[in-house]
Amino acid sequence: MVLSELGSRVNKALRQLADAPVVDEQLLDAILREICAALLASDVNVKLVQNLRTNIKSVVNIRELAAGINKKRLIQKAGTARASMDAVMDELCRLVDPGVEAWKPKKGRANVIMFVGLQGSGKTTTCTKLASHYHRKGWKTALVCADTFRAGAFDQLRQNATKARIPYYGSYSESDPVQLAGEGVAKFKAERFEIIIVDTSGRHKQEGELFAEMQQIAGAVQPDNVIFVMDGTIGQAADPQARAFKEAIDVGSIIITKMDGHAKGGGAISAVAATQSPIIFVGTGEHIHDLERFAPRPFISKMLGMGDLGGLMEAMQDLKLDKNKNLMKNLEAGVFTLRDMHEQLQTIQKMGPLGKVMGMMPGIPQELIAGTEQEGTRRFKRMMTIMDTGRPVELDSDGKIFETQPSRLRRVAAGSGAPTYEVEALLAQHKQFAQMVKKMGGSKGFMKEQMGRG
Ligand code: GDP
Repeated sequence: MVLSELGSRVNKALRQLADAPVVDEQLLDAILREICAALLASDVNVKLVQNLRTNIKSVVNIRELAAGINKKRLIQKAGTARASMDAVMDELCRLVDPGVEAWKPKKGRANVIMFVGLQGSGKTTTCTKLASHYHRKGWKTALVCADTFRAGAFDQLRQNATKARIPYYGSYSESDPVQLAGEGVAKFKAERFEIIIVDTSGRHKQEGELFAEMQQIAGAVQPDNVIFVMDGTIGQAADPQARAFKEAIDVGSIIITKMDGHAKGGGAISAVAATQSPIIFVGTGEHIHDLERFAPRPFISKMLGMGDLGGLMEAMQDLKLDKNKNLMKNLEAGVFTLRDMHEQLQTIQKMGPLGKVMGMMPGIPQELIAGTEQEGTRRFKRMMTIMDTGRPVELDSDGKIFETQPSRLRRVAAGSGAPTYEVEALLAQHKQFAQMVKKMGGSKGFMKEQMGRG
């Protein structure tokens, strides 16, 4: 099952919990069964799923909760549902969180990053993606190709690096990867590069040789961080693979690739939690910008359709959209007008594939993200047309003006050529959006924490 499907199935189960008149053991059991079935269908390891269920059951002790709060039934129900939802959320986060802080490069020195992983996992592609990420953030970045095993590896890296305007080092004639890696790193260190990324070979089948070569290269370049690249589509095979690499070399971080919209991914994502190395990014396509930062809570929140405000902010900062300063300020203060939504949707158009960016936005209903890119774009354009028809006083409002003066609603509907229910749906979406922003932005601590993830 693809991750977005997993998200909506879990989300649906949780909503059932919130909507139920009474939360009792039977309901909680049924919901846990549904969540576990969804996780298993997404390739998450059986043992991890069992643990998750046991942990939630031990945290949410229905009988105790019921005995403790025997005043109003409503409060009792709300308390129990809240506790259950928090427990589910915490456990889902634990599933993808080894509880280890990710390595961060230091300014004013050379940071050597070595990539390891099997052939075809996406190493060379991801090297350039990461180099481009640091380059955009202002780090002096270079790439070294130490893959002398795969014909064409250097060419691939050279082409990608040239496109991204990143200096590179490699050779068509030198066949010793250890020598090549050592030379490249020494050269860029002498030139005071801050981030030096070394790509290595990932030969298949001869695991012993691969690991021996990996260790020799590590000896030559003394990496500050070893990144293990894993193909996200390998399902249950992820667990033994991640462990084998972890045992052979001091893996500091993990990047999971091929986590594009329709990838299964649950196996890979959850397997790494057991290796004690944090996932730092996921690859979401073949393009150089298809690299998304990974952090457990925002990832789960996004998967469940609750958005990733931090990721969104970062994407906006990357685009250097000064126009959105106002919006950022508003978001931080927990204010969200219709104009903010208009501005945000406009930004999205510049940010690349719609579905991907929409997923980062809190409050965007799953229904809006569903379907093909084309359908999404059409839906999106209609929303923009409706908002473009609004008057300034309406756009700068929180939307209630349309409830108190329904003639405004009819005017916007007529002006934009949309049926009234579509305008109402947009207002409802805005309301949902604003509520979420209020919740998240209200505490500036959350925003800071999210934005400081880099
Ligand atoms: P390497 O052998 O580990 O260096 O792997 P490559 O970088 O050559 O990648 C193998 C294939 O996977 C190439 O066709 C890449 O375009 C593709 N690839 C890498 N990362 C991603 C990703 O995140 N999504 C998708 N869809 N394809 C990817």
